[in-house]
Amino acid sequence: MNIPGVNLDPYSVKTETALMHDAVHMFLKCITDLHATGKSVKPTKLSCENVDKWTPGFDIASFIKAYTHDTDGLYSTTAPISFDNLGRRTNFSIFVVEGNRDDVVAKWNPSDPEVLQFLKSEEDRNKELERKWSEGIVTVASIIGPPYLMVKEQKSETDLLEGNNRYEGFSMDLIALLAKDLNIKFRFEVLKSGQRGAYDKTTKSWNGLIREILDRRAELAICDLTITPDRREVVDFSTPFMRLGISILYRKAEAKEADMYAFLDPFSLKLWMYSATLYLALTVVLFFISRISPQDWENPHPCEQEPEELENIWDMKNCLWLTLGSIMNQGCDILPKGMAPRLAASMWWFFTIIVTNSYMANLAAFLTNERSQSEINSAEDLAKQTKIKYGTLDGGSTQGFFRESNYSLYQRMWTAMEQAKPSVFEQSNDAGVARVQNEKNRLYAFLMESSTLEYQIQTKCDLKQVGNWLDSKGYGIAMPLDYPHRSRINEALLRLQEQGEINRLKDKWWKEERKDPLCPKESEDQDANKLALQNVGGVFIVLGVGVALAYIVAVLEFLWNVRSVSVDEHISYMQALKVELLFALDVRKTKKRAKPEVPESSSSSRSPSMARSFLQSAGSFLRLDKMNQMETPGSSRHTSRPLE
Ligand code: ASP
Repeated sequence: MNIPGVNLDPYSVKTETALMHDAVHMFLKCITDLHATGKSVKPTKLSCENVDKWTPGFDIASFIKAYTHDTDGLYSTTAPISFDNLGRRTNFSIFVVEGNRDDVVAKWNPSDPEVLQFLKSEEDRNKELERKWSEGIVTVASIIGPPYLMVKEQKSETDLLEGNNRYEGFSMDLIALLAKDLNIKFRFEVLKSGQRGAYDKTTKSWNGLIREILDRRAELAICDLTITPDRREVVDFSTPFMRLGISILYRKAEAKEADMYAFLDPFSLKLWMYSATLYLALTVVLFFISRISPQDWENPHPCEQEPEELENIWDMKNCLWLTLGSIMNQGCDILPKGMAPRLAASMWWFFTIIVTNSYMANLAAFLTNERSQSEINSAEDLAKQTKIKYGTLDGGSTQGFFRESNYSLYQRMWTAMEQAKPSVFEQSNDAGVARVQNEKNRLYAFLMESSTLEYQIQTKCDLKQVGNWLDSKGYGIAMPLDYPHRSRINEALLRLQEQGEINRLKDKWWKEERKDPLCPKESEDQDANKLALQNVGGVFIVLGVGVALAYIVAVLEFLWNVRSVSVDEHISYMQALKVELLFALDVRKTKKRAKPEVPESSSSSRSPSMARSFLQSAGSFLRLDKMNQMETPGSSRHTSRPLE
């Protein structure tokens, strides 16, 4: 710092103060120069309404851009001062100082933003690491990504989280276990960019966590960091602590709302109408054919050789019964005898075989409709279609796998991914998962690592893993090449693996520490695919309505019969009803008198009934009932006949 007469050392003035000093100094200088050119700079009143620009401002700005004074730092504290054509300051350096203020580690200047020039040799830097290790504080770089590392929720406003306490997750716990084993302390540094480490061929540099290790900003890097040959060339890795492979994340087919009347689906409405019309038409045809078929006119009393009348049983009721019985695959207890009605019936049977069997086959398919939807089951299925787009995490090893693959299937997939518009690559796994969930009509699948996929589908029940792993690899802890403590870290990791600690941590972060409830197990899920009552509810309704109708018809028939009994027996309707009802409810009785037993004291026609019952008892004793029958032929229903 070179202000004449003032002795300033870098530690006695703050950077902000120095910058402010230079800014004011330069502003004054520019205004003086502007005056020298004859232009006057007069301050004007500014108001919110007055939108006119202050004209000298432009002149001052161009003077500032052209400011090249003090390159030797005569009056400036932060010299040299120069600007680019956008007005940004150029030609300065920032020094990276570590711990001790005199310990300048590296230098950065804006002309080469990707490069941090180290002022210390590789050997010095390793020595530095060694010193830090022995002092016991190791810097661990990581990125935020569940379940490996997440920002801890603050329990209350006063509960301020600091240092490592700000984060939680699998990586944090694993490093804590390692640190305990190795007797060191560690400090987590989270990388905002969220990049794990990709190599940029144009700038010939690495980014993300790998960059952190290369620049020695961290000794270790941990997250879902895949060990790849490229990364292995520039950094060292511990033995893998988790095995995984690339898998496909896809959305499950939406479960169709259960349809109670799904049993109607196999046929279109038209087909149902045609079948019903044909049923009625065929019944009518059968009725008329039977009427003109001589063989169906039969002797009602076979014992009579020469009957005066012939009878045809094929009335409308029976015809309907025959045709219905065959369509229901049940047959009928009476069958036509004439050639023509038999021919018509057999053609109807043929029709019903085809129709009912087509119905059965279609019904099975319709009820399991969900499973028959076109599905993606593997990477091959994805590759051979263009409708469903698929992508990967941008700048990760999964993307690298497809880009570098020599296998034609994956090469085809890479070409499809590269050419897809809009881009199918996502900035984070979470974004990829959300895209799979939100893309309409399930038109996006995300290729991601099985470990993270497994974590996602634990609670996002609409998602599933499709097919097998496309490769097999592992996550490791990255560290500088030839890191002196690599073998100690590996040994500790192996010990933790052997003790089952790593599996325990996986269970903890994949299952136990979940805020959202876990999805039901696959078997329960399959149960959901089984036919539920809702799927066949309509059949139950049809049965219920049919039985209710049958019951109503039975009651009506019963009441009609009671009426006939009351008329025949000359008793009141209520009496007849009581007698018939009592009999019907007495389930022990399996035989019924043709004529009901009317209580003696119960009717207006009591005397004839009493007389009759007296005569009946006497008659039965004398076997006069037979005579009685003969006297009133054809009136068996009304004739009193004792049970035998
Ligand atoms: N774990 C991967 C990596 O290290 C990320 C990915 O591509 O899924 O880059």
